[in-house]
Amino acid sequence: MTTLRVHLKVKGTVQGVGFRPYIHNMAKDCGLNGWVCNTSEGVVIEAEGEKNDIEDFIYRIDKENPVHSNVQSLELIFLEVVGYKSFEIKESIIGEKTALIMPDIAMCEECKKEIQDTANRRYKYPFTNCTHCGPRYSIIKTLPYDRKNTTMSAFVMCDDCDKEYNDPDNRRFHAQPNACPVCGPSIELCDNKGEIIGKTVTAIKMAASLIKEGNIVAIKGLGGFQLMTDARDAVAVERLRVRKNREAKPFAVMYYDIDEVKKACSVSQVEEQILCSAQSPIVLLMKKGHPVAANIAPGNPYLGVMLPYTPLHFILMQNLKIPVVATSGNLSEDPICIDEWEAIEDLGNVADYFLIHDRPIARHVDDSIVREIKGKEQILRRARGYAPLPIFIEDGKTSVIALGSHLKNTVSVSHGSNVFISQHIGDLGSQKSNEAFGKTIDDFIGIYEEKPEVVAFDKHPDYVSSKFAEGLELPKISVQHHYAHILSCMADNQISSPVLGISWDGAGLGDDGTLWGGEFLIINDNSFDRVAYFDPFSLPGGEIAIKEARRSALGLLYKVFGDKMFDKKSVKTFNSFEPVELKNICQMLENIINTSNTSSVGRLFDAVSSMIGLCHNSKYEGQAAMQLEFAAQGYKTDEFYPYELHDNDNVLIIKYNKFLESLISDLEEGCATGMISLKFHNTLVEIIVDIAKTVNIDKVALSGGCFQNKYLTERAIDRLTTENFKVYWHQRVPPNDGGISLGQVLAAKREK
Ligand code: ZN
Ligand code: ZN
Ligand code: FE
Repeated sequence: MTTLRVHLKVKGTVQGVGFRPYIHNMAKDCGLNGWVCNTSEGVVIEAEGEKNDIEDFIYRIDKENPVHSNVQSLELIFLEVVGYKSFEIKESIIGEKTALIMPDIAMCEECKKEIQDTANRRYKYPFTNCTHCGPRYSIIKTLPYDRKNTTMSAFVMCDDCDKEYNDPDNRRFHAQPNACPVCGPSIELCDNKGEIIGKTVTAIKMAASLIKEGNIVAIKGLGGFQLMTDARDAVAVERLRVRKNREAKPFAVMYYDIDEVKKACSVSQVEEQILCSAQSPIVLLMKKGHPVAANIAPGNPYLGVMLPYTPLHFILMQNLKIPVVATSGNLSEDPICIDEWEAIEDLGNVADYFLIHDRPIARHVDDSIVREIKGKEQILRRARGYAPLPIFIEDGKTSVIALGSHLKNTVSVSHGSNVFISQHIGDLGSQKSNEAFGKTIDDFIGIYEEKPEVVAFDKHPDYVSSKFAEGLELPKISVQHHYAHILSCMADNQISSPVLGISWDGAGLGDDGTLWGGEFLIINDNSFDRVAYFDPFSLPGGEIAIKEARRSALGLLYKVFGDKMFDKKSVKTFNSFEPVELKNICQMLENIINTSNTSSVGRLFDAVSSMIGLCHNSKYEGQAAMQLEFAAQGYKTDEFYPYELHDNDNVLIIKYNKFLESLISDLEEGCATGMISLKFHNTLVEIIVDIAKTVNIDKVALSGGCFQNKYLTERAIDRLTTENFKVYWHQRVPPNDGGISLGQVLAAKREK
């Protein structure tokens, strides 16, 4: 008989998931003595016993993880036998902080049962949780993940909760946010002046009635405030739009349960899995008819849908049983409010009532947005449920902090071979979002105790993030925007160069000082080559052209037809202008005043959207392009418009002349806008395939905001696959600028 003592270091998502109790029970099961301990580096185990039992134990750690844990590495060394007498869970040891922080997890089935059981002491208690579910990232102040390091530290557990917390056989064994109505946080309802009008279960019931009566109620959720109102009531929805200053951007809707969702939208198996997952994000689903008020997602065939993910939401929805708008509790593009007093101050004119509680939120975490692309999950906004889980990269050297882009900002910090991506921060520019940006950087560096050696940021010198980088006393690496997009897609799919990257978006500053956005980049081991792009056209008026799709249309038409563009009478753009305005813009184009050149495919979408009369002015980012995408819904064709590729010193330039001529003649002949849209999409895909064949690299990566377009992305994947390319698209990291910070980390590492 050989007795062994083994020292194991388990890294991965092993904290806050009931991993220690699980190990404790398994060790006992295997007849081993020793201990298990949470350290900032992950879980450390020492186990002593018979050789066979030890082997069995190690095998089982790797194979049977408890729910939501994810063992990424398991280091093991053998030590001298010391003769442990029992197996214990030791106090946490604070050391180097590289442990993974768990995201917030949606309520589990067992907790759901308890809050519906009248005999249970947690009946209708909105802060019920266990080791398998509940708040994590939104309550952690510092590592290791122990109650005293969370926003639950102020609540002292009652005897019953304490017993559960210390009982290895209990589901709440070491559940850090463990709470009950006796000892835990409590809920209150107040009016928009902060006057309390209801408490506990009554508060929730009252909130439900108020919503049914057409009021707007702000709810302090998991990672911040949400605004709720009856989703069937167009008047209430309109009121919310006016008060929130959000004219047309779609709202998300919360349904009571999956059956209700299925009545309103078509739900695939994958979509159902995502909706009901522990992450419980907003999922973009195809509407069936008109399930909610039309002004929730005007002109949009998709509806952003989620299910109640906390006991509070669940109890509220039980009282409501109707679909409700659940949108972020903020003003226009500010970050969501997390503090009740801040919320009452900021949202007092938006919400009529506030459902609040006294469990502090450590940091804002928005609802994530996900959609299905080719049968796989694709994250469009990465926050609750996903952040701050890392992405693994090969190169472990050089610690980098990357500050992301201007829109849909996130920041990333690398630690060894992990890159931690922050939750969605949002568009920078407003004072509040800039503050949130600075806070997230401090928070991120602080929580991982990381000392970055390099700061990476976007090449655009005017971005708030780039200016922030200037102020840091670190070596600086500025990264070209579209290169970062492709690197993030490569990291997301764990592929290495050479890769042909197709990087299409609204705009980013290019290496030649023009605005890029329709790029074909060959990614080499250390850098990239721009091998093809769309022939740049002028954007008259610069920044304004991003909002006014019709300006892109004029720029594009002028590029191809010059003054003769006005002969194209069927083009819908011209009539959208006042004559004086049109004259002014034409002068800008003629004299090249206040214009910038762009190769952006996002702007090309805008141009076409305006030319065929779908959208001349976007009320929110991407609206014109989205309307063009949605117009194609229900049409079928493989036809596409002709295009030309000009070889300019081994760089292919995509010309528009033939393409525009054909598109306009379709317009003249009264071809349906949906059909024109579809042919336009098909043309872009044929251009991708054509250039991929010319470049002839077998790996093709699709990234940038344009690849949020489902039809474009799926058709590109299909066509490229048919032509025997290996196609990679985004899954865990957004294709939009939310992925830029990850790409910047990679770019910086390549330079070092
Ligand atoms: Zn639970
Ligand atoms: Zn208690
Ligand atoms: Fe971008």
